[in-house]
Amino acid sequence: MHKLAPIFAQISEFLMKVVYDRKKCIGCGSCAVVCADFWEMAKDGKAILKKGKLNQKTTKYEVVFEWTDERGCNSDAVDVCPVKAITLED
Ligand code: SF4
Repeated sequence: MHKLAPIFAQISEFLMKVVYDRKKCIGCGSCAVVCADFWEMAKDGKAILKKGKLNQKTTKYEVVFEWTDERGCNSDAVDVCPVKAITLED
């Protein structure tokens, strides 16, 4: 869990955006293990950001979510991704 998660959890309407650059994914599966609420593996061997919308300008997938303990697992996904395909933005 991200070290700031307890602080974020106290702010009920704290919104963050998880951003996924699918072109970088090497299909290790780690994000789906640590954050199954948001990540799963596709038949092509790469990760899928569940409910992710493609940003046509950046060609990356994005989901805005309210920070909670469970959803904070996205920070774990950021940490475990070996190719830095996942980032968090506020
Ligand atoms: S952790 Fe990164 S490289 Fe591994 S499956 Fe997820 S997005 Fe792809």
